[in-house]
Amino acid sequence: MANTTFDVTVIGSGPGGYVAAIRCAQLGMKVAIIEKYPTLGGTCLNVGCIPSKALLDSSEHYHQAVHQFAEHGIKVPTVELDLPQMIKRKAGVVEKTTSGVAYLMKKNKITVFQGFGSFVDANTIKVTKDDGSSEEVKTQKVIIATGSKPASLPGIEIDKKHIISSTEALELTELPKHMIVIGGGVIGVEMASVFGRIGSKITVLEYADKLIPSMDGALGKELAKSMKKEMDFTALTSHKVTGSEVKDGKVIITAENKKGETVTVEGDVCLMAVGRRPYTDNLGLENIGIETDRGRIPVSDQLQTSVPNIYAIGDVVRGAMLAHKASEEGVFVAEVIAGQHPHINYRAIPGVVYTWPEVASVGYTEEELKANGTKYKVGNFPFKASGRARASMDDSFGFVKILADKETDEMLGMHIIGPRAADMIMEGVMGLEFRASAEDLAIFSHPHPTFSESVKEAAMGATANRVIHM
Ligand code: FAD
Ligand code: NAD
Repeated sequence: MANTTFDVTVIGSGPGGYVAAIRCAQLGMKVAIIEKYPTLGGTCLNVGCIPSKALLDSSEHYHQAVHQFAEHGIKVPTVELDLPQMIKRKAGVVEKTTSGVAYLMKKNKITVFQGFGSFVDANTIKVTKDDGSSEEVKTQKVIIATGSKPASLPGIEIDKKHIISSTEALELTELPKHMIVIGGGVIGVEMASVFGRIGSKITVLEYADKLIPSMDGALGKELAKSMKKEMDFTALTSHKVTGSEVKDGKVIITAENKKGETVTVEGDVCLMAVGRRPYTDNLGLENIGIETDRGRIPVSDQLQTSVPNIYAIGDVVRGAMLAHKASEEGVFVAEVIAGQHPHINYRAIPGVVYTWPEVASVGYTEEELKANGTKYKVGNFPFKASGRARASMDDSFGFVKILADKETDEMLGMHIIGPRAADMIMEGVMGLEFRASAEDLAIFSHPHPTFSESVKEAAMGATANRVIHM
């Protein structure tokens, strides 16, 4: 490889990097990818989306067996938790998924360098292996896709034993009696669901006044209700965590509530879930003159950095830290490099939380529409009025909420909390992409009985206040 100059070198093999590499290869470029870990796939495949969803599914099966099977006429005399087996299964899922990426690299003739990449200059990247040896990769263009790492709070260290990040939480083989979760965002509520369902007492400390505060406000309130019903769950919202202490094997978290009072919570383990920070440590950005802005690499609309032959995508640049956003940018940047004119509609990128019930959202939230002065209409349909939901479960939480422009009827946002929300949100994504009106969604024939009929009903509510089943 010593004399090879690649057309494009991608640093980082997460859903941003490996997708960019494949698209570049499809477009006829000679591509290299550099990954510091022995397995490909980045945060998402190794310690993020895939393993967390594996544990969410396993814990949901357990919870159903304990709490719901009997109602359905299924008697299971004893249900026993085997957490090490749950973790082992999850590891198997990760292994299969990451080896799939290795296969895709081979299939697309992408050269994989295993080692830590750092810029020597804008066309040379040094790859340092674990044993200290190194080699240089010469390249015309570079795509930085180095992702993110768990963030912490000032003065609180993630010691990986008492205070852990999601990465360690995914490896716990002993069930904590009481898990404290700092941050009621996406990771907070997903990991709380995993451990709460299998028997841990959960206390979430959240700075905002509701869970998942970046989503439409109605969703977080409904989610708190259902989590309280499902497990031993307390959400201390409007609590700002200020400190921590480890004493006699217990972890004590200090927070300040709305009234300015100090609150302490003692638990066996504390999950830090206050966001993630873009990862550019030791990347050598100073050698090429790229300066970060609050940790992120600044990019143009074309995802180009201040150095013309260097692009950046995914968690390391502005925008939502989501795997599918990173992948869209991976495809986008490859096509830009190939001289094409791709497009990403960031407003139509959905967000999903894989709790029970699932939460899914796309477009504007009601809070955003209020803030920007848009006149809007709301259509709302609860799953408790859905025959399909009643057939499948006893307690039907949640609703579909559709926001539409008051004058034009254009759909502006869809927010779902309920069964299969993650899949149903695609109707909202399509609606936004095609600039559908609420009436368009309302006149589509939806199969009966399905959860998706609730989307039609909410759309009928938004377009002309003509919900049928309520
Ligand atoms: P990453 O996936 O972080 O990949 C970056 C890669 O670059 C890593 O493999 C890293 O080792 C490598 N790297 C970094 N620096 C160097 C270097 N100098 N040299 C060589 N290699 C380097 N998103 C969703 O959309 N859906 C979900 O359900 C979801 N669940 C999540 C659950 C958890 C617990 C977590 C933590 C995250 C989750 N996310 C989810 C977020 C998602 O994982 C990220 O948004 C996504 O992985 C970002 O992709 P990326 O390619 O930008 O970076
Ligand atoms: P987040 O931004 O979703 O949530 C962090 C929460 O911590 C916020 O609600 C914030 O108000 C709270 N917080 C901050 N400081 C606090 C303090 N001092 N005291 C109490 N609360 C405090 O971040 P996350 O949950 O850590 O997730 C990180 C990223 O990973 C997110 O960007 C998310 O998109 C991504 N992710 C996505 C999925 C998914 O798509 N299903 C799953 C997991 C993670």
